[in-house]
Amino acid sequence: MVTSPDVPADIDPLVHRMRPFGTTIFAEMSALAVRTGAVNLGQGFPDTDGPTAMLTAAAEAIRAGQNQYPPGPGIPALREAVAGHQRRFWGLDYDPATEILITAGATEAIAAAILALCEPGDEVVCFEPYYDSYAATIALAGAVRRPVTLRPDGDGRYAVDPAALRAAFTPKTRLVLLNSPHNPTGKVFTLTELSAIAALCREHDVWAVTDEVYEHLVFTDADAPHIPLATLPGMRERTLRISSAGKTFSCTGWKIGWASGPAPLVAATTRVKQFLTYVNGAPLQPAVAVALNLPDSYYTGLRERMQTQRDQLVAGLHRAGFRVLVPEGTYFATADISALGGTDGVEFCRSLPQRCGVVAVPTQVFYDDPDAGRLLVRFAFCKQPEVLTEATRRLAALRQR
Ligand SMILES: *Cc1c(COP(=O)(O)O)cnc(C)c1O
Repeated sequence: MVTSPDVPADIDPLVHRMRPFGTTIFAEMSALAVRTGAVNLGQGFPDTDGPTAMLTAAAEAIRAGQNQYPPGPGIPALREAVAGHQRRFWGLDYDPATEILITAGATEAIAAAILALCEPGDEVVCFEPYYDSYAATIALAGAVRRPVTLRPDGDGRYAVDPAALRAAFTPKTRLVLLNSPHNPTGKVFTLTELSAIAALCREHDVWAVTDEVYEHLVFTDADAPHIPLATLPGMRERTLRISSAGKTFSCTGWKIGWASGPAPLVAATTRVKQFLTYVNGAPLQPAVAVALNLPDSYYTGLRERMQTQRDQLVAGLHRAGFRVLVPEGTYFATADISALGGTDGVEFCRSLPQRCGVVAVPTQVFYDDPDAGRLLVRFAFCKQPEVLTEATRRLAALRQR
């Protein structure tokens, strides 16, 4: 997220706490892709539409006149579908009347939760590399981020260092912001790691806010299945669980998300949310309810397709000479550029379109400690097989002989 500021500091009207946050790397790299005609594996949006039943339901809702403000917490049918979905897949029970809030995507749910829960100076434990909105949202709240660095272990998997995790908790810690399955690494936190996080939350009596937008994208060869933190002992009562339709139903432009948790946490988040957007997506809400109620086969099919695409991309990256950290979930694979002579991911990604006509994203911009991610770049595989075939054909030109 941190690139060059757009306006000279002396005439910049922007508040100081937002000045470190320039144009997002996604905007820069997507513009580069358009300018150069490169295949864009930078930004993580699918290039196919979601389930037909969902699309039809949205069109029908518009025609049927569901075009005015929906209820503040979201339409009852969607809150019930969100509750039913969490019961079906994770055995978690939430009361649709008081424990579920519909939001403008997961992004708004995260922002509303952090703004609702953090006083200025409070600390938020998160994991770097982190999703780009986290740092900006924590800064907007006047809170302070305490990143724990995920580092590749000997098996090529990103892991949490238990000592670093423990050291990140202080008397000022207000909450833990956890994203699993994790963007940009594709890591799925293991039960051991989640148990350590949960134990620290209980010991320090802090909240957990979980970003689980990739909950259905954990591959069959992962070390661990997806485990919602809220399912661990003592965690349901202190966890706000966030997800959204964008990734699960290939509709990232719809921005329908939700937060689930104990009533006081949901009420606090609602208090802020009502002044951010108030409500959103009236005709899309019933359509997402239809999607959430699709049979298990939809979810299995999504995962199988994405796993095939992952395998296709990873094989292509290997052929091009990258060392790949094979992801266990999400839309993304990260690759180490050092075997290709790269020494800086930002430079590497800026020159990649000229070198071979592909766009990727340097993950170092998602770290407070840029050295930890200097050699890593992220490729998205939520793209049609033909697109991945073309991208990997182009990447093969990088191979050093
Ligand atoms: C895409 C993404 C989001 C944003 O979800 P929206 O529903 O589009 O707001 C949040 N967190 C992570 C980790 C993501 O990858």
